[in-house]
Amino acid sequence: MSDVPESTDPVQFRTEVRAFLDRALTAELRAAGAMQIGVFSPAAVGRVWHRILYQQGWITPTWPSEHGGRGWGPLQKYIFEQECALANAPTLSSAGLLMCGPILIHFGTAQQKARFLPHLRSGDDYWCQGYSEPGAGSDLAALSCRGRREGDVYVVDGTKLWTTHAQYADWVFLLVRTSTHERPQQGITFLLADMRSPGLTVKPIISMSGEHEVNQLFFDGVQVPADNRIGAEGDGWTIAKRLLEFERSGVYGPRVRRLLMQAKHLARADGRRWRDTDFRRRFAELSMETDALEAGELRMLTADVGENLGVTTSLLKLAGTETLQRASELCVLAGGSQSAYAHDTTPMSSATAGDASVAMARYLNMRAATIYGGSSEVQRNILAKTALRL
Ligand SMILES: Cc1cc2nc3c(=O)[nH]c(=O)nc-3n(C[C@H](O)[C@H](O)[C@H](O)COP(=O)(O)OP(=O)(O)OC[C@H]3O[C@@H](n4cnc5c(N)ncnc54)[C@H](O)[C@@H]3O)c2cc1C
Repeated sequence: MSDVPESTDPVQFRTEVRAFLDRALTAELRAAGAMQIGVFSPAAVGRVWHRILYQQGWITPTWPSEHGGRGWGPLQKYIFEQECALANAPTLSSAGLLMCGPILIHFGTAQQKARFLPHLRSGDDYWCQGYSEPGAGSDLAALSCRGRREGDVYVVDGTKLWTTHAQYADWVFLLVRTSTHERPQQGITFLLADMRSPGLTVKPIISMSGEHEVNQLFFDGVQVPADNRIGAEGDGWTIAKRLLEFERSGVYGPRVRRLLMQAKHLARADGRRWRDTDFRRRFAELSMETDALEAGELRMLTADVGENLGVTTSLLKLAGTETLQRASELCVLAGGSQSAYAHDTTPMSSATAGDASVAMARYLNMRAATIYGGSSEVQRNILAKTALRL
């Protein structure tokens, strides 16, 4: 890891990132990134890339310096994301790096930070998010997974649904109900549970694309040490809401850009498709919409501290995921009959960038983008109420 900080000049910074990616991204990693179907790369690939970024000192560049930050501002982080997407770098799970880590920094005790953050940063601990339950997704406050305090532990009983990458995870951060007497938002507690705890089982859910990315978790008398509670008992909703802000302020522009690049690659491989004026019109329209999306995301990321971004975040989640879906559709169109349903999900496979065989699976998987992190209907409700005052 270099002690010399990266340039703050955007052009120079981009050059530094490109040089690093040229050096660090092996052909196998690039191929695996190009073949990625799910929201994140499978853990076998993600762990390799995580370790490389950690060794470079770039795994948590926007965190405070005492927790391994490099002082990067939002513009630098965005440029980094853009370059990673265009170079087909694997996509890392957000549960630890973008969700639990920042929560620990904001709400964790000194002991909790010292215990969890180093392993989270190094990639030795893989995290997953245990929020949603059957009947508690959009209406998260309806959650009913119980946490009962018994001496030094909470005994957890219940279930969590759609838990991404739980099959790889060492730890889950979860919301449990510790009392039922108040408003639904009260009486919720935020816990960190070891995935190897007795009584915790993971049941795979196979998506319509054939991927195993999500799971259902069952807690049957799982004991979680009270020391693993973040914040006060019953105060979990405050933390949960803060974390959802991190989740919803995710950026989509670079991911759309990567799909457009792959659509172009596929269409060029089949010369007729690239000469098809209807295809090129759709490609041009989406490219312009992506420019607008990126401009919006940059505006949000560089907004003044204190500026209320609630509406902007909803607008960009809506626009970002819907554009992403349309770009995945364009890839299917570009691949034509080669966009076979059968696909190779072997990690680190030697497929070429933009392989047509993954286009259909990715298109199917991308349907979930307008559901997770707050569905499109929920975002439209927020916009109707807050921006249009309906
Ligand atoms: C691929 C994928 C990965 C996920 N990963 C995780 C994870 O790792 N951890 C985790 O905790 N959760 C995860 N989720 C869960 C996700 O957060 C929920 O699916 C989401 O919050 C929607 O909740 P739900 O599935 O219960 O649907 P519901 O809330 O039951 O919604 C069903 C439908 O009703 C609509 N609807 C709901 N309420 C309203 C309303 N008030 N007005 C208008 N329409 C409404 C919704 O838009 C949707 O179309 C994941 C989901 C998916 C699909």
